[in-house]
Amino acid sequence: MGRLDPVTRSSHEPADYDCPFCLLQRGVADEHNQQSDIVATTDLALARVSPKWWPANPGAALVIPREHHENLYDLPRATGHAVWDLVQEVAVAMRTAYACDGISIRQHNEPAGGQDVWHLHVHVFPRHGGDRLYERDLEARWVAADERARYARALAAELDRLRDHAFGRGITSRSTPDELRPPPPRPAGRRSPAR
Ligand SMILES: [Zn+2]
Repeated sequence: MGRLDPVTRSSHEPADYDCPFCLLQRGVADEHNQQSDIVATTDLALARVSPKWWPANPGAALVIPREHHENLYDLPRATGHAVWDLVQEVAVAMRTAYACDGISIRQHNEPAGGQDVWHLHVHVFPRHGGDRLYERDLEARWVAADERARYARALAAELDRLRDHAFGRGITSRSTPDELRPPPPRPAGRRSPAR
């Protein structure tokens, strides 16, 4: 791939990393990752309510590729497009479901970029006037599963409503453990940790 190679080889994922987002798709839950967090899946992307919220932005969501990809640098383009499509759908649904005033997204790569989970994820934040989102990183907190689930139900219901329109046609399920299909196999190569 020529001159991009040194960048696309930038990896911080430990060799024995138990990826929480891949585990969640395999039905393995922990306090920060529950099936009840999942609000939508498509063939290549999944949306869930985030386990960590900033103080004035409750119900923030994460959109991830179904496959394990550490960061943006070597994300296959079709997968990136699918993630972006679901980000758009979540943003539109969130705007109605939470009655917020706006939406912000952000995505981090490598520790210097603020990344701390080694599976690419796009944050989708509900915004409210004067919420000071970008000044309050130190106040972000883990949120209990039942509190997340209340927001997940509202967001999933609105995403389901969008499925009835052409805009949301790619959304294939309001995921429950029974409906959630297994993730596609991990791509072969250096990013597949030993298990
Ligand atoms: Zn993963």
